[in-house]
Amino acid sequence: MSYQENLQRIKELNLKYRYYKSIESLFEYDQWSALPAEGAAYRQQTAAFIGEQKNALYRGDDACRAEAYLSGVRPEEIEDGIERGLVRTFLARRRSAVRTPEDTLRKYNLMKADCMNAWKQAREQKDYRVFQPWLRQAFDLKKEIALAVNPDAPAFDTIVGMTDEGLSVKEVSEQFDVLKKGLKELLDRLRKNGQAEEDAIPDSSPEQMAAFAQRLARELGYRPERGGFNDRVVHGFTSFMGPRDARVSTYQSGSYNLIFTCLHEAGHAMYSSGSSGAVIEAGLWGGIEGGFHEANARFFENMIGHSRAYWDYYYPQLQEEIPVFRGIPAERFYRVCHQVKPTLKRISADEVTYSLHAILRFELERDYFAGKLQAEDMAEAWNDKYEEYLGIRPSNDTEGVLQDMHWAGDYIGYFQSYALGNIYDGQILEAVKREIPDMEEKIRRGEILPVTEWLGRNIWQYGCCYTAGEMIRKLTGGGLDARPFLRYLEKVYCGD
Ligand SMILES: [Zn+2]
Repeated sequence: MSYQENLQRIKELNLKYRYYKSIESLFEYDQWSALPAEGAAYRQQTAAFIGEQKNALYRGDDACRAEAYLSGVRPEEIEDGIERGLVRTFLARRRSAVRTPEDTLRKYNLMKADCMNAWKQAREQKDYRVFQPWLRQAFDLKKEIALAVNPDAPAFDTIVGMTDEGLSVKEVSEQFDVLKKGLKELLDRLRKNGQAEEDAIPDSSPEQMAAFAQRLARELGYRPERGGFNDRVVHGFTSFMGPRDARVSTYQSGSYNLIFTCLHEAGHAMYSSGSSGAVIEAGLWGGIEGGFHEANARFFENMIGHSRAYWDYYYPQLQEEIPVFRGIPAERFYRVCHQVKPTLKRISADEVTYSLHAILRFELERDYFAGKLQAEDMAEAWNDKYEEYLGIRPSNDTEGVLQDMHWAGDYIGYFQSYALGNIYDGQILEAVKREIPDMEEKIRRGEILPVTEWLGRNIWQYGCCYTAGEMIRKLTGGGLDARPFLRYLEKVYCGD
């Protein structure tokens, strides 16, 4: 069989894989918005079946034959981006499908529900010890799977690679060290300059806030014909159901924070639904997973949505549409949105301290998988790091190690992506500004679409053909680099 015939074969497998993934997205969307309590058990069985079918595609004879041929082809020698993406993703999925020990995976999947329950119970009792044996079991099974998938690499590298493909723990650690040092200096400067604490802005009507936030998302370029809004869930997320179908889900709230949630999710949605026809045809739509997707969402939430230029344009409209803001000068609103204050919770963290929350979890995981940290010491190590990096210490485990559902919910080796998103954003912002030097003036006039179109042309159209590292190299000529993000923060927060 020729190269082209093998390519066709893996393309067909990939398309089927994507169909299953779309069903999984639909299930997730339904689970958070409509699934009744008594429907959950049967849904779980259905979802498990779909998951098995999806992975079985890569264990069959077709995949076996394609692997025999394509493992002799070096992906970096394939010129066409779509073909290279197909071969790279095929080989990774094939390796994972045949090497993942089925009994370990089954054990892991069976443990998930109990693990989540133990986490919930531990949170109620504010006692990490209730969750500790489950954390150890989850981490250790994950490690077993990682070592089986790639016996030649340290487990944590493989685990991180499952979320952020192509990145090594060493590379991430190096850039996190740069970021940490820069953030610490920035926080010291801000502390010295002294920042008055702003009063909170009162809530408005959730209906008015949702209408305003959704309009802003549409004016970024998010087209409801490619998705739409559902505002009846508990946390913001986006479901990638199809190449032209990315639905934004948000909660109901009268807080202005809803605006930023909407801009964030619209970023995910536009990225996911912005692939070119050829990329869709190959089943490679949707964007690069992990930190790079997060970057495209945070770009609209922060780089654009928090900018002075953006609010110079939109604040008068906000005042006109929502009465609460009429008594709040634009300058005060801007200061409230840029208040820097270390908090114990990642999800309520400001733009400056946010990365530290992600970095410290990454470091705890790294130490655990390197055998330097034991499960029984995790809560203490967590609190020590908060004290060291943010200058505050959780008073109980629910405020500390138990605050995220991630470790209980199979998001292990995932936290780095939140901080990587910021790093990529600094690099993307500089790349955009090289081509649109008057970006701020444009935004100040309400012309945001040129920036959206730039992202569409340079990033979104390629779907997940490239890894994040390849994409950053394409955009900047260099590798992962935390310095542009630090330069951005210094400019916004210190006026440098
Ligand atoms: Zn996100």
